[in-house]
Amino acid sequence: MTAEGLALTDGPGWVDHSTDPIMGLFPLAVEQFLNAAVAVNAPGVTTVTNAARYYLLHPLVADEADRRGMDGACAMDLLRRVEVAFALICMAHQGQPDHLDWYPAAHGRDRLLAMARRGKIDLAVAAGTGDGRYANSRSGFLGPYVGSEVSLGLLGQGGRGPFSPGPAYDRSVVHGELGAVLELATSSTLEFADLLDFSSLCLCKTANSDDGGLLARRFAGRADERGTVAGNIGQIMRLLGIAMSEAEIRDRDDLGNFVMYSPVVTQHRQSTDHWLRWRGIRTRMSSVNAWRQIFAHVCRYLTAGPQTISQMGDRLATELPGGTVGAFVDGLPAVADKQGVPLSAELDVTHRPAPETHLATLALGARRFEALDAASPTRLGLVGPPGHRFESEELSPQWVSNALDDWRSQSMGEFARWLTRVMVNRAHRVTMAKSRQRRDGRFSMPLRIDVQDDLVWKHWGEATTEPSIRWTQLMSMGRQTGIFEVAEDGLWTVGARGHLLD
Ligand SMILES: [Zn+2]
Repeated sequence: MTAEGLALTDGPGWVDHSTDPIMGLFPLAVEQFLNAAVAVNAPGVTTVTNAARYYLLHPLVADEADRRGMDGACAMDLLRRVEVAFALICMAHQGQPDHLDWYPAAHGRDRLLAMARRGKIDLAVAAGTGDGRYANSRSGFLGPYVGSEVSLGLLGQGGRGPFSPGPAYDRSVVHGELGAVLELATSSTLEFADLLDFSSLCLCKTANSDDGGLLARRFAGRADERGTVAGNIGQIMRLLGIAMSEAEIRDRDDLGNFVMYSPVVTQHRQSTDHWLRWRGIRTRMSSVNAWRQIFAHVCRYLTAGPQTISQMGDRLATELPGGTVGAFVDGLPAVADKQGVPLSAELDVTHRPAPETHLATLALGARRFEALDAASPTRLGLVGPPGHRFESEELSPQWVSNALDDWRSQSMGEFARWLTRVMVNRAHRVTMAKSRQRRDGRFSMPLRIDVQDDLVWKHWGEATTEPSIRWTQLMSMGRQTGIFEVAEDGLWTVGARGHLLD
């Protein structure tokens, strides 16, 4: 039996049966600053908002509930019926030749599809809260969207809290395009054949519809309105649009390279401090990702069974180059040329073996930090304002810079052992800080690894996905509403509504 299996079934002695180890999502808790910076600078989307037209479907229901004088519970019933009818319209259109498959699927599709195979959809059942429901939540799929819809002014803070139409909602436009779904939602049953006449409501029509135009204006923001939600979203969307005009952008990696290294970011006539702040945020994302990857790498040593922290450190030491820390750092590529123009140093270390690439990326992030003036906007994006606790917190670029200085004359092997101990101890502290006594008396511990004395056990594999800076969502919202387009060769370009970014 593997250590993983052992830990899950019997557990080490101290994990008694009233303790529930659950999978920790952020074992090193190294994302806090990045997430905070992204939330401010990329408002209006999150990692769970994926279909643009829902941003207007919810205010449409809120407006209807207002007009009918519904209380909160009635409004939620209406919302669920509307979401079901809307999903069925989209599903009916999915088989049609003019449907665009790159649009996201409607929410609740899989469950509704299972019901549709058995015949007509009974709306009372599908939109209900018992067996056969399309969504588990009483508020359907409003939850993932509500914060973003409020921040874009589409939902307001009126009588029903956040479920009332917001200042940017335009009834004549939205009701004109989507109002038919309110009528359909009152049906007792629906089937796909009834819904083909309503294909103009499908998610895939957003780019060319009037309500899509309203949405495009919200996502394009108002770049020149500094310090507001509209200003912040406007700046990042304009930067994405400029990247697509000036470089070959096929994915967010290309976008990352443009933002980190292209001279256009500083030289373009519309360039602002905001774009440099994004250069800092994107650089920090590389560092956060490198921490996730190197920790995941070290945790893989536990796959065959528990090890002591020292054994893990010894193993990391064998995978890194010999010599001193100073020699390693001095051997890294330059991060900027003599005029201070950034060089693509991070790309030049990707061919090195895995743990070394990640350590090199961390060291390059520290180098970039060292070169920045305290008042520079790039530094603000990289580590936050001077004096804030984020600036020098453990594992931050400044912390890495100090650590590399302190260890400069020592061997890479000793540094690897120390670094392993820092990561394991931090993961253990994060687990302790997040552990909670639950209402049912059980003790829940979010973790990936357990530490008992010096022995480390692995419970779950490590998260190795890239941290989100919401560019994927912004690109998708832009594409869905016609601000951006993807050409047949896969290149992103500015679309028919791209002028909104000017
Ligand atoms: Zn469609």
